[in-house]
Amino acid sequence: MNEVKDLMLNMLIIILPIFIYQTIWIDKISSPMVTARDRTAISIVATVAALCCMTLPVTPLPGFVFDLRLVPLLIGILYGGFRSSLFLIAAVYLYSWYLGGPGFPIMALTYPFVILAAYLISSRFKRWGRRQKLLSASLLTFFASLLVKTAVVVTAYLPQPDTPQLPIIAAFVILHVLSICISIFLIENMREKAALRFEIQQAEKLRIMGQLAASIAHEVRNPLTVVRGFLQLLQSDQIPAEKRHMFLKLGIDELDRSETIISNYLAFAKPQSSRLETIDVAERVEHAAAIISSYATLQNVEIKHQIAQGLYIAGDPEQLSQVLMNLVKNGIEAMPNGGTLHMNAYKRGQNVKIDIIDNGVGMSEAELERVGTPYFSTKQNGTGLGLMVTYQIIHSMQGTVQVKSVPGKGTQFMLTFPQNEKNALPD
Ligand code: ADP
Ligand code: MG
Repeated sequence: MNEVKDLMLNMLIIILPIFIYQTIWIDKISSPMVTARDRTAISIVATVAALCCMTLPVTPLPGFVFDLRLVPLLIGILYGGFRSSLFLIAAVYLYSWYLGGPGFPIMALTYPFVILAAYLISSRFKRWGRRQKLLSASLLTFFASLLVKTAVVVTAYLPQPDTPQLPIIAAFVILHVLSICISIFLIENMREKAALRFEIQQAEKLRIMGQLAASIAHEVRNPLTVVRGFLQLLQSDQIPAEKRHMFLKLGIDELDRSETIISNYLAFAKPQSSRLETIDVAERVEHAAAIISSYATLQNVEIKHQIAQGLYIAGDPEQLSQVLMNLVKNGIEAMPNGGTLHMNAYKRGQNVKIDIIDNGVGMSEAELERVGTPYFSTKQNGTGLGLMVTYQIIHSMQGTVQVKSVPGKGTQFMLTFPQNEKNALPD
């Protein structure tokens, strides 16, 4: 009975870190690619799991010890790649040497082959689909555990030579394959969800951009018409020199203005990179207000912002833009007859607060409860994904959201983020 308990413990040691990894890091995974930071995290998690497995081994027979260290080791190499798993391998070897017993010589004998095979697979592993990953990892684990077990038998580290070896070998191999399958299944599932979320985020951004495009085109056309008028005037030779200068200056100013509108829009359209840096909140709020201003004007909404300078938070500036854009756009859409939208950013203790306040239609209690859940939308062409994405981004930046709303009076979204020192690298 005790062996089963030990075994369950070993499996738990392997699976638990995957869940911990999910809760801590998955929020920060904003792209389906495995980044360098992910690799380091995977390597650390795998190292902890492997060392714990070795500390709490299974003893099915007296004097006979085994553990599932092979599983986190292989996962670390397959997902982490060559460089980041060097630390993991070194740690496992060193710890095995420190623990003593037959474990180290067996490892020294067999693991180089296993590690080499894992490396060969790992370069292709990340490109494979879930089924190929499961299959290749199972096969690798099958042969690896068979090799290790055979080495144990051949080197005659047999505590009880008279017991039949075959069932023990079979159990050893099956347990390993089973553990790695469960682990890979969990990891793939969770990465797939992260990738899906990333896609929804991109799609929502594209949707906002599409809806803004018309108003931006409108806004850019006005200066063009003005410039065309000036050019037409300049065609005539009878214009005095100082008038000529004035027309040229006005024309250039108008062109500059449309250029700013377009480059603001394009900056927002930039593909997501998911950087982690210090964000200047004032700059972002002003930027969002600038992009949306043409849309607001078209809807008869005035945007007023009151922003304290020197507010810094940690995160991806592009993502904060996306958050602000969706909240401001929702606010504008809540005021079909026009109104005023306030954007305030200020410091409260160790936090930076951003409030977005509209005096639009507001929400009932029931609506307030559903806000931010996927597909909740009261708009004809709404997706109800904007706020879901918005909330996710805010949470991934360690922020929180509070909503107050009174039907017919208006709505207030209050964001709170931990303050970050300027130029201090966020951790
Ligand atoms: P969408 O804008 O596509 O409908 P969102 O997730 O952005 O999706 O918003 C979901 C719903 O929340 C909206 O349809 C609306 O009913 C409600 N909502 C969001 N912001 C406001 C607001 N400022 N005032 C009133 N209702 C709002
Ligand atoms: Mg919206």
